[in-house]
Formats: sequence, C-alpha cells, structure tokens
Amino acid sequence: MQNRRATKLLAFLLIASLGMRGAAGCKRAPTSIAPQEQTRKMFGTLVTIRVYDADRRRAAKAVQLAFDKIAKLDRDTNNYNPASQISLSNARSGKPTYVEHVFSVVRRGLAGARDTGGAFDPTILPVVELWGFGRREHVPSQRELGAARRLVGYRRVDVVGRGRILLPKVGMGLDLGGIAKGYAADVVVRTLRESKIRHAMVTMGSTTSVLGGKPDGSPWKIGIENPRGRGLIGVVSMKTGTVSTSGDYQNYFVRNGVRYHHIIDPKTGMPSRNAISVTVVGAIDATLSDVLSTALFVKGFEGTSRYAERNRRIGVVFVTPDGRVRTAGSTKGRISQLRRRI
Ligand code: AMP
Ligand code: MG
Repeated sequence: MQNRRATKLLAFLLIASLGMRGAAGCKRAPTSIAPQEQTRKMFGTLVTIRVYDADRRRAAKAVQLAFDKIAKLDRDTNNYNPASQISLSNARSGKPTYVEHVFSVVRRGLAGARDTGGAFDPTILPVVELWGFGRREHVPSQRELGAARRLVGYRRVDVVGRGRILLPKVGMGLDLGGIAKGYAADVVVRTLRESKIRHAMVTMGSTTSVLGGKPDGSPWKIGIENPRGRGLIGVVSMKTGTVSTSGDYQNYFVRNGVRYHHIIDPKTGMPSRNAISVTVVGAIDATLSDVLSTALFVKGFEGTSRYAERNRRIGVVFVTPDGRVRTAGSTKGRISQLRRRI
C-alpha cells in the first residue's frame, strides 16, 4: 500500500505541476481566469478536480457536486473495505445478489472483458487477493494459483436483472480496481458539463480526463511518467479526452530480486511480463481508457498494435519489457517529447 501511495502521489504531483505550468519548455498559458481546484484522497490515490470558469461560485459548486457524486462510488467499489457494496455482494457469491450502485461499473467491466478477449477480467479478485498487494504480500504456489484461477472467468457472471448479478461459484468475486477510477472520472466530467463548465481537468492517480482545453484555447498537457527513472517519457497534448496509464511500478513488491506487480494475466494468474507501462490516449471515455490500459498491458505490444489498428480512436505509448518506448494507433499530433528508451 505504501509503495502504491508513494508512487501515486508522485504521479499526481507530476501531472498537477504540468497542468499548472504546462509541459517542460512550454510557457504558462496566459489566462485571466484563476482555477478552482481541490484535491482529496479517494480510490486509494489522490483525486484533483480543477475547473476554470469566470463565475467562481459556479465553479466551486460544480467541483463540490462532482466530489459528492464520486464519494459514494469510492465507498461502494472499495474491495479493501469488507462493508462496501462490492465486498458485501462478493460475500454472497453462489447466490444472486444486488450490486445496485456499482451495477453500471460491473456492466462496463464485463463489456471491457468481452472487448479485450478477457485480458481485462473483473472477476480476477481471488487471484489478486492471493498475491495480497499492499496487504499481506505473498508469492503463491502453483497449487494456490490453480485453485484461485478456477474461480476466475467473466463469462460465468450472470446479469440476472436490473442491478442484480450471479457469481455462480462460492469464492468468486469482482475486483473493480482496474476500472473504478476511470468510471469516476467520467462521472466528474459529466457532472461538470451539466454544470455548464467548459474547461476542466480531473486527475485520479494515473487516469486524467480533460475537458475543453485551457481557457486560452490551448490544449492541456499531461506528462507520461518514466516508469523506471525520473522525469517524463512523453507529453500528451489534448483538449478533450482521457489519458490512462497502467504500470508495473504502481503497486508491487520485490522477492528474491523479482518484481511482482498488480496487473495480472488472467490466463496464468501471474503478474504480466508483457510490458513495463502502457499509456492509452484518446477521445474516448475514461472508463474505457482505464480498462484498456490494464488490458493492453496484459496483451503485450503485438496485441496492442492489433487492437489499436481496429480501434482508431486510441493512441498508445507502450514501454516494452526491454525498455523501449513504442507507439501504436493514433498518436500523431497528440504526443511530443517522446523518448526512445526509458
Ligand atoms: P490499473 O491500475 O487500472 O491497471 O488496475 C490495476 C488493478 O486492477 C489491480 O490492482 C487489480 O485490482 C485489478 N486487476 C489486475 N489485473 C487485472 C486484469 N487482468 N483485469 C482486470 N482487473 C485487473
Ligand atoms: Mg485500468
């Protein structure tokens, strides 16, 4: 947990500072409107909402409303809290159960699983718990992994009615950790739009959504962290859209010199060795972007290229296991200052 908090804090500071000053070498956009900005600890990371609006009261109200909306989602999707909605419904595996408030997140997670051929699988919980990231970290035996993997499989989840699902085997469980922050970013952006806000940025750890460019008409700049060292490996410029990064440096532990991290290949139950970090950029919603950064990490570069070929709305900055920085899909005009290696 400590590792994760430290790196997430770093990521946040990095993105926040780019947002404030523009990317290294860029001038601060001249604007007469001061932002309304608030940061809170949520979803196991830091969440910042920054809004520009000439009407400061409207801006402050919009920020408050957006935080109110995601506070509930944070509580409901928290697998670390045994009293959360997701934990209570997981505890009822084997019988149909209501997931109520998290139903749409679950549905998007299942759709994401189908779309990525199971590289993203929201039923991964039994395996993730076995590894105990951030809690009781442990390298499981093949026997333990085999037993946990038998409880994983998104195709087995039945949606039995509005807000009601069935995890057919006792011990199955949903983990929304790979999608909840993206979903929450979409809730924020929707809330801000409804409040007539035209320029905003929301950062949820390693998922950032931007709306409407900066007030002076220039695009927002979002830095892509170097997953191994200091500084950035690239800078994303975007007016409206989302950037989401999944990396093996965000939540991990080291045993006997081996790094075990939190992005699991559902086929093996092991941390995926197919990437170091994956950043998805696009004018897509943050829910999808969050799903994809996790899934494309698992798929590896070839699988990512094929996916991006079919889905032209996204661009990907991919750090390969040997430290090369490669791109796939629509990155042209969106990424600058790209390094070739980390
Ligand atoms: P992210 O940081 O968005 O890549 O999400 C990583 C989190 O998603 C992990 O901490 C797990 O809770 C969960 N997770 C790990 N592997 C997978 C997977 N293959 N599919 C879906 N969720 C996963
Ligand atoms: Mg994700």
